[in-house]
This record gives sequence, structure tokens and C-alpha cells, in this order.
Amino acid sequence: MRILVVVGTQLYQQLIQSVLGDLHIQADYVADGQSALRAIRQHSYDLLCLELRLPDMSGLDVCRQLRAEAATALLPIMLLTSDDKEATLKESLEAGITEILRKSNFEDLSRAFRQLIGSMLTQVKGRVLYVEDSQMAATVTLRLLEKMGLNVDHFSSADVAWEQFQRQDYDLIITDILVEGPLSGVGLLRQIRGLNDERNRIPVLAISGLDDTARRIEILRQGANDYIAKPVIEEELRARVTNLLTAKHLFDTVRAQQKKLEEFAVTDQLTGLYNRHFLHEAAQQAVANANRHQYPLSLLLLDLDYFKRINDRHGHDAGDAVLREIGALLRKSCRDGDIAARFGGEEFVLLLVKCPLDDARIKAERVRAEIEAAVPAGHRITASIGVATLALGQQTCFEELFKQADLAVYAAKRGGRNRLALADQTAPVST
Ligand code: GH3
Ligand code: MG
Ligand code: MG
Ligand code: MG
Repeated sequence: MRILVVVGTQLYQQLIQSVLGDLHIQADYVADGQSALRAIRQHSYDLLCLELRLPDMSGLDVCRQLRAEAATALLPIMLLTSDDKEATLKESLEAGITEILRKSNFEDLSRAFRQLIGSMLTQVKGRVLYVEDSQMAATVTLRLLEKMGLNVDHFSSADVAWEQFQRQDYDLIITDILVEGPLSGVGLLRQIRGLNDERNRIPVLAISGLDDTARRIEILRQGANDYIAKPVIEEELRARVTNLLTAKHLFDTVRAQQKKLEEFAVTDQLTGLYNRHFLHEAAQQAVANANRHQYPLSLLLLDLDYFKRINDRHGHDAGDAVLREIGALLRKSCRDGDIAARFGGEEFVLLLVKCPLDDARIKAERVRAEIEAAVPAGHRITASIGVATLALGQQTCFEELFKQADLAVYAAKRGGRNRLALADQTAPVST
């Protein structure tokens, strides 16, 4: 951001210099109107700060000349003055001044200037869905929103906007309350608030031509976050839109952090698989569902063979690398709805829903062979696998199922490792 400051008074210059310096904003300083006009024609500025009374001419004359030239017709111009007469205010606005800071005391002026510069610097970002059926109103508001740097999709009918809303993510909705067509702005708001997912929280700014208290209360009751009356005033729109978007971004950040924490709580940090805590909760639910709906469910418990040797011979980091690769292998072998978890140390669980014993046995054998062939992190490793199935009509809890699988792992180890054993069978299944 580059600013040109045109002040004749030493004190004003010091004040502005100190505020801009604090905000790390670069500025050029000139002391009279002619120098200002020359500087502006030579460089491109984002903002002009102008004192009302300059040594050679009035600040308003500088403003009028700039407004008459295409290149500076829209340049924001801020007027600094201690003159608070209404006539000056009116004359300034007519001359094309964007902002007037009328303060008789320097402290107030400094604070107001800081706030104004601050708000000009906070560029909010976001995608806006804008519904307005009056072309004239839409043209003005669209220009203001685009000037704020926002991405805007405009619709003149609320039902088309509603279809678009379901296809695209937005950060803010601005809607006229009265819109021609089958769906009104209020109707659109009701549909959005009635959604069953997080999109129903999107901020909504309602606009209406009728400054009607009852209607305004009604729209707020329906869940609008804010309300603005037509004709829309630029600074008011800017302030309300900025507030809503800032709140939305803040909410999104908090929500993302919350999701991360939730994920963290159920994930094993080394392998990225589910952890034991999650397995316990999910498995109890899965077993209860299987019992209720009468479908089979199988549990594979895997224990890596002689894993301690890997740590002993190659170090703990090598052991970790092996565990990570085994984790990835198990995750890949899961179907939708299955759960792969690290139960602890070098023990893993695959919970297979709607999977009868025969399929579980085939699956276990395939996983065993894949682990043997994988040579994770360059180390040969094998696994012993216990297979337990909740057969139809059998009311078993997860703990019981797990105990059966654990006994089967034992049997597989006793049988020579690198093999699987079925629960309730003393003899391990040979491979
Ligand atoms: P068995 O074939 O009888 O299962 O032998 P084993 O060596 O695999 O079994 P044991 O239970 O004696 O050893 C398991 C080893 O797993 C011991 C422990 O140091 C190691 N271990 C447990 N958690 C981790 C871990 O997070 N990282 C690493 N690198 N090693 C771990
Ligand atoms: Mg309308
Ligand atoms: Mg073990
Ligand atoms: Mg082991």
C-alpha cells in the first residue's frame, strides 16, 4: 500500500508519520497542492491523505482536479481537518472526498486515523453469493463488493441461487428480502438454515428496500446474521460484510482445529491407523450392530514375529519404520467400513464387517503373505494371525471375540509363527 500525504502543518505530518510508521506503511510527503498534483501524476498511489488548508490552495480544489481525471477518479481521498462545520462536510462530499476526519484534538485524530487505515488494510477474502432482482441495485452493490476484492456470484432469482449454493462453497450470502419468483429471500434463508450439515451456518446479510421494523425482526428471527437497508451505503456495507466474513473465517479456523483434535484423539501417531481407544468404541458398536442385524463379523489380530530382534539389531527407529510400513499395508487391505487399528506395540487388529469365517481366513492368509513379501524398511518380518468370527445367531461381545482371537494368536506362535490360527481350534492352520 502506497500513500501520498499532503500536509502543510508540521504537527500533522509528525502525527501521520508516527501512525504510518507503526503500521509499517510507506508514504511520500509533500507540503502543498501543486506538489501533490505533480506527484500523483508521476506515481501510482492507493490513498491520498489531504489537509483541508494547504499553503497554495484548498485541499478540496486538489480533490476536484483529481476527480476530473480518469486515472484518479476513484482514488480514495481522506481529508484531515479540525473544522467541524456542517457546510465543510457537505462541500467536502460534493468535491469527492471519500473519508473525512474532523477532529479538533490530535489524540482523537490519531486514533481515528489509525482505525481508518487499519480497516482499509484488512482485506477480507471470501466467496459471496448475492441475490438481488433489481438490476440497478445489483450494479451498485456488485461494484462495491468487487472493490473490496471479494469473489461474487450474482443471481436475480433465489431458486437459481439455491441450486448454485448446493453446488459451490460460499463464505457469505447477501440477499434481498423480496425477490421475484417462486422463492423469496426469506424462503432461501429458511432452506439454508434447515440444511442438516455445516453449510447451514453460513452468515447471511439481508438487504431490503423497505425499512420496515416488523420485517427486519422477522428476517433476524429466521436466522439472518445482519440486516442492511437500501440504498446501500458503501461504508456500512463494507463494515457489515467485513464483520461477517471475519467471524466466518474465525469459525472455520476453530472448526478445523477441533476436527484435527478429534482426529488426533482416535489416531495412532506412528502408523496413522486408528488407535486402541477408537477401536474399542467402534468395535463395540460394530459387534452390537452385527448381533442386532444378524450379519457375520470377523476380527483378525496380528502380532509381528520376533519383532524385538529388529529393535535390538537395527535400533528403535528401524523398528518404527517397519511398524509404519506394516500400518500402510494393512490400511490398503481394508474395504470401506472395515477398521484397521494398531492395538499396541507390534499388534494390529483388522475388524471386518459382514465377513464370514471362510472369507476372513482367506483374507488373513493374504495379509500374512503380503507381510512376508513386503520386507518393510528392508527388514524381513512375518506375522502370526488369530482369526475369530462372530457367527450368525451367536451373541458375543467384543471383549469375548478379542479374547478368542488372542488365544488363536498364541496357538499360531506355538505352531511355529508366520501362520494363522482360527479361534476355538487348538491346532493352527498350516500355511
Ligand atoms: P513374538 O514373535 O513372540 O511376538 O516376539 P516379539 O519379539 O515380537 O514379541 P515381544 O512381545 O517380546 O516384543 C515386542 C517388541 O515390540 C518389544 C518392544 O520393544 C517392541 N515395540 C513395542 N512398541 C514399539 C514401538 O512403538 N516402536 C518400536 N520400534 N518397537 C516397539
Ligand atoms: Mg427485490
Ligand atoms: Mg506382542
Ligand atoms: Mg510379537
